[in-house]
Parts: sequence; structure tokens; C-alpha cells
Amino acid sequence: AAQSRVAAVTGANKGIGLAIVRQLALQYPKSPLKSGPFLIYLTARSEERGAEAIKTLESDQQLKDAKVLVQDGGNTTIKFYALDISQTKSIQDFSAFLKKEHPDGLDIVINNAGIMFDGIAMQGFDANVVKETLQTNYYGTLEATRDLLPLLREGGRMVNVSSMAGKLNKYSDEIRNAFIQAAKTDVPAVTALMEKFKAAVAEGKEKQAGFPSAAYAVSKAGETAFTKAIAMEEAKRDRGVLVNACCPGYVKTDMTKGGGAKTPDEGAQTPVMLALHDIDGKTGGFWQSEREIEW
Ligand code: NDP
Repeated sequence: AAQSRVAAVTGANKGIGLAIVRQLALQYPKSPLKSGPFLIYLTARSEERGAEAIKTLESDQQLKDAKVLVQDGGNTTIKFYALDISQTKSIQDFSAFLKKEHPDGLDIVINNAGIMFDGIAMQGFDANVVKETLQTNYYGTLEATRDLLPLLREGGRMVNVSSMAGKLNKYSDEIRNAFIQAAKTDVPAVTALMEKFKAAVAEGKEKQAGFPSAAYAVSKAGETAFTKAIAMEEAKRDRGVLVNACCPGYVKTDMTKGGGAKTPDEGAQTPVMLALHDIDGKTGGFWQSEREIEW
């Protein structure tokens, strides 16, 4: 029998995450992964917003026209699961559920959930904003990556939706080099940089320490760095599991508050390519506009 396929997407009730779920469903039938039935877990921290999102997809005209969902004669099912990546217990519950429900493993995990307090204008920067932003974008995404990666079966894909904001062009030479070295060393080395940033902010001295006064940018530099470190670790296991970070581009969502050049569906293209399509075995890369770019 054809192998059934399983994917999970975090922060998928709106914005780029929701579009990633739609695009996974739309592109699966024409992807090299195509096999048997496809089950996508649309996860969100709110039950209510998650249920709303499922309804939106069930009445989505493009999905209907493409006949990809089971109710339209296709082979894809979308299910909701509650997952808050800032809560250890929530991540553990989800991974335990997946382990039980899918003992043969998952094919795709897309860590998309993220927050931005300080906005494009980088306003409202303080120690608390830094703490909360790191808690979700860095520690939460790291924990989800750690817990879910072992559930991927051979040939599986892990995609972390990081950002161009995490590029290394806003640091002192010393900190930029430290990021590059940490990404080549291990996750604790990356986490040490996040802690260094937090400590510097607490003293009001992040600029002197070589960091920008920008919680989101630093959290995303950390996300890209740990993704590279984990990709290196994973490669040693020789399971053909590919782990990549990407930027979706500048996308019109609630996060960009009226800004943004791309639609969410356009923003979903690079993450979905890294999840479903042939990427020539590449792992540990940082991607944008469907190409590997410099971090
Ligand atoms: P949105 O604000 O529209 O969506 C963010 C999603 O993440 C929401 O579903 C939100 O849920 C969820 N989320 C936030 N915190 C948590 C949490 N603790 N646990 C689980 N889910 C959570 O933003 P975008 O769609 O624009 O962003 C998606 C990703 O893309 C983010 O990682 C962002 O940093 C990245 N990105 C976006 C860019 C853009 O231009 N839009 C550019 C570069 C990167 P809820 O509805 O409950 O708040």
C-alpha cells in the first residue's frame, strides 16, 4: 500500500502558517513526496482560532477547485492540534500524541510560530520584550525542534521559518564571528549568545556589547544559528533528514501591520519547497526566494 504522509505546522491559524498548510495541501499531489494519504496537523495556541482556521480551509475555493481534500475526493486531511510553543508541557503533549498516533514517524515539521513586539519601527524595546520574544522565537522554537526532530522518519524535513531580520549585518565583528562560530559548534554555544544579549539588555548595554537594540532581530539570528547547529548534529545520524532555516520574504500579515510586499501564499513558497520538493539533499542552509542565500 502507498505510504501515508504526515506533516505538522506551528502557528498555523493565520498568516504565513495558514498559507503553508494550504500550499502543502495544494502542492503535495505534484511533489516528489506524493504517496498515499496526507495528514496535515494545523497547530495553534488557541483552540478557538485553530477551529476557525480549519473552517476557513474547508471552505477555501482554491482547495475545493484542486480537489485535494478528502471531502472533495482528494487524499489530504487537515486536523487541528493545540500547541503553544512557549510552554514546555504543550510541546511535550504534542510530541507524545504524535509518537502514539504515528509510530512510523512524520515526514514534515514546519516551525513557523513567532512573535514580534517591537514592530518594524523597533519601538518598545526593553528587557521584558527581549525576554518574551526570546522565549517564543528562540527557546520555544528550539524546544519544538528538539522534541519533534526525532519523530521525523528517514528522509524527513524540518523547516524553521526564521527571518532576514536575523541576518548578521547589525552586530559588532566580534559578535558576528561569535554567531558564525556558535552555529558551527553546537546549540549551547548559540544559547550562550542569547543569554549574553539578555544580560547586556538588563544592564542597558547591548550596543556596547555589539548587539542591536532589537529583540526580534536577535531572536531570529539565534533561530537561524541553532537550526544550522542542529542540522550538523542531525547529519551525523545519517537518516537523510534535511533541516533548513528560511525567510518567507516581507509578507502582508498581522505581524507586518499593513506593510509587506508578498501575499501569505507567496511567503509560503520557500518553506513549502524546503518541505516537499527536491532540494538536492541540502541541509543547514538559510533560504529566501527559493534559493540558498548568505546568512
Ligand atoms: P502572524 O503574526 O500573522 O502569525 C504568527 C503565528 O504564530 C500566529 O498563528 C500566532 O498565533 C502564532 N504564535 C505566536 N506565538 C505562538 C506560540 N507561543 N505558540 C504557538 N503559536 C504562536 O505572523 P506571520 O505569519 O507574518 O509570521 C509567521 C512567521 O514568519 C514568524 O516566525 C515570523 O517571524 C516569520 N516572518 C514573517 C515575516 C513577514 O514579513 N510577515 C518576515 C520574516 C519572517 P496567535 O494567532 O495565537 O497569535
